[in-house]
Amino acid sequence: MPTTPPRWRRAVVTGGAGFVGSHLCTALVEGGTAVVCVDDLCTGSPANVAHLVGRDDFTLVRADVTEPFAVEQPVDLVLHFASPASPADYLRLPLHTLETGSLGTRNALAVAREHGARFVLASTSEVYGDPRQHPQNERYWGHVNPVGPRSVYDEAKRYAEALTTAEATTRGVNAGIVRLFNTYGPRMRARDGRAVPTFIRQALAGEPLTVTGDGRQTRSLTYVDDTVAGVLALAAADLTGPVNIGNPGELSIQELARLVLELTGSRAGIRFVERPTDDPSVRCPDIDLARDKLQWEPRVPARDGLARTIAWFRDHPEDDPRDPPR
Ligand code: NAD
Ligand code: UDP
Repeated sequence: MPTTPPRWRRAVVTGGAGFVGSHLCTALVEGGTAVVCVDDLCTGSPANVAHLVGRDDFTLVRADVTEPFAVEQPVDLVLHFASPASPADYLRLPLHTLETGSLGTRNALAVAREHGARFVLASTSEVYGDPRQHPQNERYWGHVNPVGPRSVYDEAKRYAEALTTAEATTRGVNAGIVRLFNTYGPRMRARDGRAVPTFIRQALAGEPLTVTGDGRQTRSLTYVDDTVAGVLALAAADLTGPVNIGNPGELSIQELARLVLELTGSRAGIRFVERPTDDPSVRCPDIDLARDKLQWEPRVPARDGLARTIAWFRDHPEDDPRDPPR
């Protein structure tokens, strides 16, 4: 039981049955906030919130946020996390991704406006595209191909940021924007196509790890508990942002693959495969703003977070019902 009263009585979490959303739902409920999770299950699963279903303070509503939706009980926080996020998912669901970022954000903002609730948009480091500034701070406008394959995600999030900012400035919505960098941890789908779950699945199965290109491209990996702490810190602050939430510890993808091989004890090695179109070359957050305004910084080093994630994958073998049919 929390020792202090919860900051929020009830939160709506769109995309709450997904990877990051399910950890947010858990943290909120554990902190004493009732949660209404709204999810169409296009990339998420009820299995991710099975530990919460049946509680009085948790409701799972299966709904597509591209359609207007309402919540009858009072709400004081809306976390808008609905959106496919893995490149494989958004390339499979291009129009749904665009509509979730545009219509879905409009509809989630309407719920916040109606209730006078704080609104937080899950934006992404993808708004920086294939960046020409390194590391990326929030003042950098990005380098995005507006018609490339990744544009369905990048431009949807850029539009969602513009819409959220306009609702804050013209309609007085109390809104904040987090730009999340690559987040990983338990409950990622083994076959969602992202590097961390793919490498762990392959290493545990004794298959070579499929590194794209020469593997020298970089990402900055944030363990999900750190991401959740950053999101809730912005939710509790009186700040619109956008604010980068990410771990500045930058790794090449080849280094990541070698770390997964080491931590799993696998001898499967690496297989180099074709690099996807417009795959960003570098990605690293400047987090001075989050440190200064939110007193937030990541705590979990990649080695520890990956070890925890590998342990979870060992306990959740591949026939997990959250994996889409092969
Ligand atoms: P995820 O695919 O695991 O979760 C997304 C959830 O949103 C799923 O449960 C899905 O079913 C739901 N959803 C999608 N479209 C919907 C719609 N129209 N209506 C209702 N529900 C819908 O992805 P994730 O990694 O947990 O990402 C969650 C959010 O965080 C996304 O908005 C993503 O853009 C953002 N983000 C994630 C990362 C990351 O590294 N994980 C990085 C940057 C931003
Ligand atoms: N990647 C890889 N092998 C895989 C999946 C991804 O080498 O099986 C690469 C991908 O090309 C990119 C990096 O790993 O350079 C991170 O990819 P991910 O999909 O995890 O995140 P994003 O590209 O959205 O940052």
